[in-house]
Amino acid sequence: MTDTLPILEATDIDHDYGTISVLENVSATLRRGAVTALIGPNGSGKTTLIRSLAGLHEPTAGKIAYHGPETARRIGYLPQHPAFRPGFTCLETLEFYASLVGGDETAAMTHLDRVGLADAADRPVEALSGGMTRLLGIAQATIGDPPVVVLDEPGSGLDPGMSMHVFDVAAELADDGIAVLLSSHDLELVERVADRVLILSDGRIVRRGSTAQLRDELDADSLWAVYETAIGGDLDTVRVQGGHA
Ligand code: ADP
Repeated sequence: MTDTLPILEATDIDHDYGTISVLENVSATLRRGAVTALIGPNGSGKTTLIRSLAGLHEPTAGKIAYHGPETARRIGYLPQHPAFRPGFTCLETLEFYASLVGGDETAAMTHLDRVGLADAADRPVEALSGGMTRLLGIAQATIGDPPVVVLDEPGSGLDPGMSMHVFDVAAELADDGIAVLLSSHDLELVERVADRVLILSDGRIVRRGSTAQLRDELDADSLWAVYETAIGGDLDTVRVQGGHA
């Protein structure tokens, strides 16, 4: 479902950290019901772009348009390393967060159930595995029913079964009508869930489209081959980090 109206449109974004230019002329469109995957080597600017689209920092130049009521204030965000207040259970964590952001505290259990954590509702957050911590982070990102959810490397550091579950949860959020943006180094999982792929290299989007379109354009037999062609020499960094060495 990628033919819906855009909920977020970024046009020609630049981002500088001091004198260092990290993003240049980046444009991206997110639509409800679609998973957009952002892939690129380490240091290519994925986290910077994700934080820009989530409204966590202002672009140095360019424009981000958010459509729909209060969309800019209602974007769900999963950081790369989510952390939670020790001593709280999973359920208390979500109830507390809902009370902070004006969400529905009574819906906390529904949000846990949505990510498959209902059975861990009473577990203290410090007793969660890495995968469960990510899932709790995704549940937290959906508090307040945001129209857009951005997930920074939701599968990194997880075993294959857990990363697949996390990606499937992301796909289910899109099935529920949310615009989902996620970054990843796992191109097999990206291929499994993403409606559209953005390939970032050195701060610029060098390719965009569905996996099928990108394969056709580059006459490639897999997303890995597309990626290799698109980013050239940076591939080794990604293979090692993504566990595909
Ligand atoms: P990725 O997520 O693709 O690894 P990042 O957006 O984290 O890329 O980083 C892109 C570049 O910006 C890297 O060279 C990184 O060192 C630099 N960078 C990231 N955050 C900061 C910061 N707060 N200050 C200065 N440089 C930064």
